[in-house]
Amino acid sequence: MRKFWWNLRGSLIAIISIVVPTMAQSAEVKKPNVVMIFCDDHAFQAISTYGDSRKLIETPNIDRIARQGMKFNRALVPNSICGPSRACVLTGKYNHVNGFYDNSYSVFNGAQPTFPKMLKSAGYQTGVFGKWHLVSDPTGFDEWHILPGQGDYYNPDMIHNGKRLKHEGYTTDLITDHSLEWLAKRDKNKPFLMMVQHKAPHRDWQPALRHLGHDKDRKYPEPETLFDDYSNRGIAVRDQEMTIEKTMTPGDLKLVTSKRLTDEQKKAWDAYYEPRNAEFLKADLKGKDLVRWKYNRYMHDYLGSVKSVDESVGRVLKYLDENGLAEDTIVVYSSDQGFYLGEHGWFDKRWIFEESVRTPLLVRWPSKVKAGSVNQNLVSVIDFAPTFLEAAGVPVPDDIQGRSMVPVLAGATPADWRKSFYYHYYEYPAPHKVRRHYGVVTDRYKMVHFYAPDVDYWELYDNQKDPLELKNMLGQPGYETVEKELKQEVARLRKELKVPEDDNADYDAFVSERKKNRPAAKKKAAKAAE
Ligand code: CA
Repeated sequence: MRKFWWNLRGSLIAIISIVVPTMAQSAEVKKPNVVMIFCDDHAFQAISTYGDSRKLIETPNIDRIARQGMKFNRALVPNSICGPSRACVLTGKYNHVNGFYDNSYSVFNGAQPTFPKMLKSAGYQTGVFGKWHLVSDPTGFDEWHILPGQGDYYNPDMIHNGKRLKHEGYTTDLITDHSLEWLAKRDKNKPFLMMVQHKAPHRDWQPALRHLGHDKDRKYPEPETLFDDYSNRGIAVRDQEMTIEKTMTPGDLKLVTSKRLTDEQKKAWDAYYEPRNAEFLKADLKGKDLVRWKYNRYMHDYLGSVKSVDESVGRVLKYLDENGLAEDTIVVYSSDQGFYLGEHGWFDKRWIFEESVRTPLLVRWPSKVKAGSVNQNLVSVIDFAPTFLEAAGVPVPDDIQGRSMVPVLAGATPADWRKSFYYHYYEYPAPHKVRRHYGVVTDRYKMVHFYAPDVDYWELYDNQKDPLELKNMLGQPGYETVEKELKQEVARLRKELKVPEDDNADYDAFVSERKKNRPAAKKKAAKAAE
């Protein structure tokens, strides 16, 4: 009898020793797929789930990610322009650390650690499709099929694993096609990271032919600040070049025909724009009426470009559904920054102000995220890298400056989650003439230092009293303590993030080196990345 129990005990130990590690392993090693859909310049105001009061557009497919996942209302970018924001995403670090400050002179050093590289080392298949905009070739991807530079809206050249190819069609559709083709041919036994990076709706906002006239010549409600006179704010806000009134070109306004079209495409294009342009020229509009016409043309084109992106999201979600991938895949929808849709009379981005610094962020992850949840935490695109790494069970390197959002996504934001966020914009003067500035964003306030090249002053904004950001509160009675605390917070963040003390000299030295030597820098980056 004793022998029986002894044998039984032995068998149980044997069974447990086999089963327990397997269970532990499967809990640990279940690596979710990651689909990151990353748009260029997609304003949250142009996503219906974000509920802009103008009700600019319906985006049912993008909204579905929010309905089935989490919507972030305060996702911020560290530097509101294309290349720098993308460098922050890949590295989880600020631009003074990853070395990509601006679109004019920077070349991404692809030899540095990035989350796609780390996921690839952890057994992921990795692919990036569409806009890249980091000058050097992608590293850390099994497959890349990218637009050179900004890329074109129609019939684009694309670079497929180093080989330049000509494509015919509309770029948003082509990026989707390439992404889904790659998914179909992947190794189904391995997890994947797929980055779908649209060019749309970047300037100059060329919609697909099927979306010309999508709004049936709607007259769009105007933002309250379309005719902002920039009073109560400093020279930086007053003296920029990004107004619908003065900065938009004939190309932006489709008063000239896009040069990339085939004869057949041109026919459809002209059939929409020509009669409307003729009517516009005949009306000979002036002053505010002219601004209003431009605003409406801008909305037609920008929102038309968004429509194709929404369709693309629908195609990707459908593929995941039909192939049994929806449950095990994190789907992220975001943009490299926000964008002005006429607020303050502006288009473009660059500012620490709300429509620019705040980007859309929607995340679906069925096993972690409660459907339909809404989050108000200050999160950022620099948090993507550590989030994906933690989700994949890959240790997050200590020098990453973002923080994993995994607990936030699970609805359990840590008590010490950030209450303030550091912002830093460098690129001046071209284009758009926005002065260099840095500052801090909190739930309620923004404190900003415009520091170069010909300015040196601070401004304070209070979104509770002034949600439209029309008044600098610095020096106003009652703000003395707030001012002091926020300046201290800026100093604390700069120290924590290791921002060089003399930013201006540091960035100037960088620019002058690159001006002399950009092709060499590009070559050096390519070599380092080999
Ligand atoms: Ca952008």
